[in-house]
Amino acid sequence: MTATIIDGKAFAAHLKEDVARKVAILKKDHNLTPGLAVVLVGEDPASQVYVRNKNKSTVAAGMKSFEFLMEDTVSEAELIEKVKELNNDPSVHGILVQLPLPKHINEAAVIETISPEKDVDGFHVINSGLLATGGKGMVPCTPLGCLMMLKDVLGNLSGLDAVVVGRSNIVGKPMAQLLLNESCTVTIAHSRTKNLPEVVGRADIVVAAVGVPELVKGDWIKKGATVIDVGINRIEKDDGKTKLVGDVEFASAVNRAGAITPVPGGVGPMTIAVLLQNTVTAACRQNGIDEPA
Ligand code: NDP
Repeated sequence: MTATIIDGKAFAAHLKEDVARKVAILKKDHNLTPGLAVVLVGEDPASQVYVRNKNKSTVAAGMKSFEFLMEDTVSEAELIEKVKELNNDPSVHGILVQLPLPKHINEAAVIETISPEKDVDGFHVINSGLLATGGKGMVPCTPLGCLMMLKDVLGNLSGLDAVVVGRSNIVGKPMAQLLLNESCTVTIAHSRTKNLPEVVGRADIVVAAVGVPELVKGDWIKKGATVIDVGINRIEKDDGKTKLVGDVEFASAVNRAGAITPVPGGVGPMTIAVLLQNTVTAACRQNGIDEPA
């Protein structure tokens, strides 16, 4: 058996087209152009690439993009002041502060300053609380993108056994919560989990968000399970060059799973597309407009 490969690039392209269609309707019918502000502190090359891509995708969808680059010597108070300014700017509907921040800045303090309605990353405690209690908050982009792909492949998820490997606040925990909200029976595994292969082997849905290259082996996976690999790990090959691999050993998993996301080209491309979708949702809610269907 060879798994269906879930094409995250194609999925993200569709979602971006759909966002652009909604933006066009909002502009025409409501004179509303959703705006996304991204704040980057320091000059980390990987973060600069992310921010540049976000900016390009935002503009391509017909939205306004605001980019703020701050020196890595900026104080926490100055950064918080910038976030407050954006909270009060009506042309900004989504605010994203690129993480990680320099060590002298308390990330939680900055995130908690973002107005929950503009928190398109969904990291604010109010939004975590709303997700946990079934309320209407902003949902973190990566797990929401994973859920969209799972629903596309499986349809109704109700009653399925799901294992999420990883319990971070930005991926593992919100992913588990989203699956619980879909009436899956959810297990969260982490570094202290006993007998991980057996735990993974029970699942109809496996989401790996660990950050350990190819940790989840193919022979752990139940035949026909759907596997979502969130991991992005750069490893060195025998020839000295580097390549990206996920948290799942793809070569063996592809022979056991029913469907699987590749790395690269699976979850990664979805994250920015969902960020744009979240910004549209935020803009509609802030203006009391029903989001275009
Ligand atoms: P974190 O480092 O914050 O969390 C990793 C989690 O994995 C922790 O809960 C940890 O357990 C668990 N873990 C670590 N080692 C093991 C192990 N041997 N067995 C079982 N569990 C283990 O990572 P993130 O959640 O931020 O990211 C996870 C991966 O997803 C990374 O590769 C990251 O690059 C990628 N990522 C991809 C995104 C995308 O857009 N595609 C977006 C965000 C992340 P414990 O809590 O016990 O320490």
